[in-house]
Amino acid sequence: MVKLDSVVVGGGLAGLVAAIRVAERGRRVCLVAEGQGMLPLFAGPLAVWGAGTGIDAMAAALSPGHPYRVLGAAALRAALAFFRDLTRRAGLPYVGDAEANGWVPTPLGRRYPCRLLPERMAPPQGPAVLVQLPGFLDGVARRVRAALTGAEPVVELEADRGSQVGTGWDSDRWARFLDTAPGARWILERLGDRLPPGDTLLLPAVLGVEGHEALGRALEAASGRQVREWMGWPPSPPGARLRRALVGEAARLGVDLRWGVRATLSGGPHGIEGVTVVPKPAEGTRGVELRAETVVLATGGLPGGGLVVERDGSLLDRTLGRGLAGAGSRLRLFGETPFAAAPAFAAGYPIDGRARPVDASGRPLYPNLFAAGRAVGGYDGDREASGGGVALVTAFVAGGEA
Ligand SMILES: Cc1cc2nc3c(=O)[nH]c(=O)nc-3n(C[C@H](O)[C@H](O)[C@H](O)COP(=O)(O)OP(=O)(O)OC[C@H]3O[C@@H](n4cnc5c(N)ncnc54)[C@H](O)[C@@H]3O)c2cc1C
Repeated sequence: MVKLDSVVVGGGLAGLVAAIRVAERGRRVCLVAEGQGMLPLFAGPLAVWGAGTGIDAMAAALSPGHPYRVLGAAALRAALAFFRDLTRRAGLPYVGDAEANGWVPTPLGRRYPCRLLPERMAPPQGPAVLVQLPGFLDGVARRVRAALTGAEPVVELEADRGSQVGTGWDSDRWARFLDTAPGARWILERLGDRLPPGDTLLLPAVLGVEGHEALGRALEAASGRQVREWMGWPPSPPGARLRRALVGEAARLGVDLRWGVRATLSGGPHGIEGVTVVPKPAEGTRGVELRAETVVLATGGLPGGGLVVERDGSLLDRTLGRGLAGAGSRLRLFGETPFAAAPAFAAGYPIDGRARPVDASGRPLYPNLFAAGRAVGGYDGDREASGGGVALVTAFVAGGEA
């Protein structure tokens, strides 16, 4: 049996941030995760509140069970400041205003509202020149222009005759190419000095994952302009960059990271007493027993695999081995029209002000169990454009308590 101070179950945005917070407090923490969670799909910007109102006004207008309201405006401000520091330390600085939305251009020519975003995606300063990659599947620069003035020049890059570069490539394939030395050379040669006037070069978010900072700086030096990226489709290099930065920071702080394992929790009268961890696939494998004073449940709700749908339409929490009260019935699982948001995807535990899951009467399920991210209910991250912000503030509070 392994004895620890804390175990975090889940390796998405919420689990990684919670584990980092716990480790920063000098506690021995192990993160166990079956998969990578949503981060490989994450478009990059941190969506806190799509509607754009300031934090105090937003928190006051929300229903009483909303995690922003339960945890409070001060916690959200502190969590955003923490994330800015954390990402700067990890080499992927996020910038922006905690109180008001900025924006990032999308491939559909819209402005996606967001509070914090990677520096490389901050809106262009001054006139921009857009770059079209050859054979690129994930967006057309001429369409992106609609998010700007609509009159920006577009530079169409071409592959060498007979070369396969770019043929049918999506963002992920381009990022893998540009992470290589030949890939970096390819783009640096094409975006040198023969460019139309403009202060900013605006490209799709494909400038590598591992080498993105170095390549961005090299491109700025070669072109004599600021280099910025527009938002793309999943699988998304900015999401992979964020995951890489957070995993790196967690490892640096000594978090014991165990990927590809499934956890189940066993509770008793005094709280969660044990965590059993089995490798995936689990058939015939004996589990490893972990003991910890505290546990953070960051298992991602229905999209993250923390909840599964039972035959009768009810939701089961696989990690705690219990049903999620109040989330059953078809009507609650599906919206009333085909494209209405499905309430089940927003299902999760209500929490108290210390981010502990509570029962219908508001009592903690276990005194030493905390929850973060989509394991928490009471909000609809997709409709509100609040998924990243709620994951962050719940992880910040849970990781500060666990
Ligand atoms: C396509 C897409 C794009 C998005 N883009 C953005 C964006 O650009 N900006 C933004 O702010 N938000 C975005 N969101 C929303 C945001 O990604 C999520 O709200 C947030 O990342 C959820 O994080 P999480 O850690 O709670 O869950 P997840 O990322 O789903 O992580 C859950 C983790 O728990 C693990 N797990 C579950 N059960 C167990 C178990 N029993 N044992 C071990 N491990 C377990 C999973 O394997 C996984 O590691 C996007 C969502 C989607 C679907």
